[in-house]
Amino acid sequence: MRLAPSPTGTLHIGTARTAVFNWLFARHQGGQFLLRIEDTDKERSKPEYTANILEGLQWLGLNWDGEPVVQSERIAEHRAAIQQLLASGHAYRCYATEAELTEMRERQAAENRAPRYDNRHRDLTPEQEQAFIAEGREATIRFRIDDNATITWSDLVRGEMRWSGADLGGDMVIARRAPADQIGDPLYNLVVVVDDAAMAITHVIRGEDHIANTAKQLLLYTALGAPAPVFAHTPLILNQEGRKLSKRDGVTSVSDFRAQGYTAEALANYMTLLGWSPPEGMGERFSLAEAAAVFNFDRVNRAGARFDWDKLNWLNSQVLHERSAAELLGDLQPLWTSQGWTADASWLEQLCTLLGPSLVTLQDGLEQARPFFERPELDGAAQQQLASDGARPALAALLERLPDGPLSADAAQALLTDAVAAAGVKKGVLMKTLRAALLGSLQGPDLLTTWLLLQPSGEARQRIARCL
Ligand code: GLU
Repeated sequence: MRLAPSPTGTLHIGTARTAVFNWLFARHQGGQFLLRIEDTDKERSKPEYTANILEGLQWLGLNWDGEPVVQSERIAEHRAAIQQLLASGHAYRCYATEAELTEMRERQAAENRAPRYDNRHRDLTPEQEQAFIAEGREATIRFRIDDNATITWSDLVRGEMRWSGADLGGDMVIARRAPADQIGDPLYNLVVVVDDAAMAITHVIRGEDHIANTAKQLLLYTALGAPAPVFAHTPLILNQEGRKLSKRDGVTSVSDFRAQGYTAEALANYMTLLGWSPPEGMGERFSLAEAAAVFNFDRVNRAGARFDWDKLNWLNSQVLHERSAAELLGDLQPLWTSQGWTADASWLEQLCTLLGPSLVTLQDGLEQARPFFERPELDGAAQQQLASDGARPALAALLERLPDGPLSADAAQALLTDAVAAAGVKKGVLMKTLRAALLGSLQGPDLLTTWLLLQPSGEARQRIARCL
């Protein structure tokens, strides 16, 4: 198994999902999960994208075996394979110029035909070749595709597959244009086959947008005399409208999801569900290791998988609810520190215990913690509450009785009871007013715990006092 990302962008959710299926299958089979960085597009490949991809995979827990293979370092092998194909007659030099090819495609379009190379230079005589070379023409290298060939394979997801050679667009370019005595830059289908064969890949698991490539690649395996791997083409990830998820859909790279406060566990869990149905009784919340134990391609759907934010949010909240306070602190502390929010560890853990149950994302843990570190303004509803009957007298009665320093929950309850009796209001009035005073809002986490957390530093006293 291998993942072969191109470092021409950050780790896309589609690539990450492909990585998940490769990883699950490799771990299930006790096989290896290898990584190959396909960096042959020199203009678009960037080291920071490679770093982003590796970091994203690591973060998700998709550990790979061995060192990543760097495709650009293998160009000598790619050229040797092309040399072999030229020697065996499977490949030839095509001297057609860009202008000629454009003219050919325009004619095909005008005649409503699908664009395809018309194999015009497939059988040049040595004299014709010499004439083109004498003109100073450069050449691409093309691989012969027999129109009468039928290419079949048994796809682990899609079952029996059959392609006609005639539907592959004519003889395929395997090396870019270069002077006629050289071999230009080798191209995708060729290098993938050479590398997959060299890495002894037994299973190629990738998105269904590669199906036509698979047909071409199978022809290359045969021509090179290399055994072909088994293929599994996984369904695409679709947006809410049922179209392929693209950059226009906003959040699509793993680092974006991470920045939005999704956990690695939830995202990996969610990606597993994008196209795979867990066996009966397993439920939808599971770890990668649990999924690997039962993973196979019989339960991978053929239909595209629609991205469902509600499900991802649900999984993320499940993951966050399963966290201990100390674990949650590990996730939240970097966010809090970035805001300059610090306190002693046990106080921070208590805050995590308080906020944990209501978190959907870690970003919520930033927003919901804010009033514990920064004194909030009173919103409209809080101001209204303070202006209501009995509110301020009740708060004043509480303030009169409020000691300095930490309080136990029992002592706090007793203070509330006393203050309510002294002010002659219902307990609910004081509770609501206290919430308004402490949090500046009528919404928020458990009131008593909030108070107890704000009490030791004197912050509770100051927030109550400012309202009076
Ligand atoms: N570099 C290719 C891509 O990112 C790899 C496809 C494959 O898995 O063969 O689409």
